[in-house]
Amino acid sequence: MTVEAMVEPESGAIGVDRLLAAGPDARWAQHATRFGALDAAAAAPTLLAELEASGLGGRGGAGFAAWRKLAATLEAGRRPGARPVVIANGSEGEPLSHKDATLLRHAPHLVIDGLLAAAAAVGASDAYLYAAEPGLEAVRAAAAERADAARIRFVAAPDAFIAGQATAVVNAIENGVALPRDHTRRLSESGLRGRPTLLHNVETLAQLALVARYGAAWFRAVGTADDPGTRLVTIAGDVALPQVLEVAGGTRIAEVLRAAGADTSRLAAVLVGGYHGAWLPADALDAPLSPAGLAPFGAHPGAGVLLALDRTRCGVEATAGIVSYLAAQSARQCGPCRFGLPALAETWNRLAYASHDSGLAARAWELTDTVDGRGACAHPDGTARMVRSAQRVFADDLRLHAHGGCARAAR
Ligand code: SF4
Repeated sequence: MTVEAMVEPESGAIGVDRLLAAGPDARWAQHATRFGALDAAAAAPTLLAELEASGLGGRGGAGFAAWRKLAATLEAGRRPGARPVVIANGSEGEPLSHKDATLLRHAPHLVIDGLLAAAAAVGASDAYLYAAEPGLEAVRAAAAERADAARIRFVAAPDAFIAGQATAVVNAIENGVALPRDHTRRLSESGLRGRPTLLHNVETLAQLALVARYGAAWFRAVGTADDPGTRLVTIAGDVALPQVLEVAGGTRIAEVLRAAGADTSRLAAVLVGGYHGAWLPADALDAPLSPAGLAPFGAHPGAGVLLALDRTRCGVEATAGIVSYLAAQSARQCGPCRFGLPALAETWNRLAYASHDSGLAARAWELTDTVDGRGACAHPDGTARMVRSAQRVFADDLRLHAHGGCARAAR
């Protein structure tokens, strides 16, 4: 399923207006009125400690603690001649996600503030912003409104799922090819042209800008102890109003879905975290949308995507469509992507639409194990995670499909 129509952000509906508090399409005047100017150099000496105390986790997918990446880059930057680099990643290759595009359009100055604050904190001489158009256009226009953003370089991201993987971002900036590469050293040690590189998602940097301004205690005043602050969430699929919402950390999934007009009593499952995320069954929707709340289900908020699946839809068909997409999006540089993912997609499509063969489910398990952990990047692993969750959540449907039926017909 794709998101055909996204309505404007409804910030404040169930959370707190923070990232989007300057209002729609905020330019410098609205930004300065709401937040004031941020003195990046003045914030630099205390930023690392404030970030650590804030508990801010990355908002791009993996959710690493923001302070750890900053600390590692700072440390590597002490090497003689190291010249650290900071990159803001707003490429959002995940087709279900619209939160970074929304942020870049409505709060570009907050992203610029975060990028410049992070650059000042690690002593970076270069700062890049990597995003797809038209998000890039919005930030370019915002940068033109202020003198301190003149040194930011803008790089266009192609519209491809893997273009947002960390090493693909570095490759794209380095040589114009947005493909992941084999990577044995951390980017913080050796990233862009071998320099210590701090790469953060644009929402992470916008949140960092708030921490730099107001401090850790302010940041923690919203959300829960284990999921402080707010996060942007894209709600898609079978909801009345697909949209991007800013919600308080730890908000229950059902509550977020209802805010987008979903009738949660009609849902069969929800895909959490996007195409590399995990399916959750309908009876798990009271779980908080937080790393700790989702851990028991093998899930993670990822880039903040919720895809609702109505009980009249078939989870096996939905999963087959996603696996087909992911197989087509691979760079086909490594074995699991050249052979494993296409075979997995073919098996899921046969499970969904064609053969009534009880051996297919076992074949799908086997292929999933084969691709997991074998690629140069996390694309096969993310696909395997999503597929395993489908095998758990849609186990009854898979059994029926194997014998020529579909549970959807009975609902
Ligand atoms: S695992 Fe797949 S997507 Fe990742 S680098 Fe290898 S071929 Fe490319």
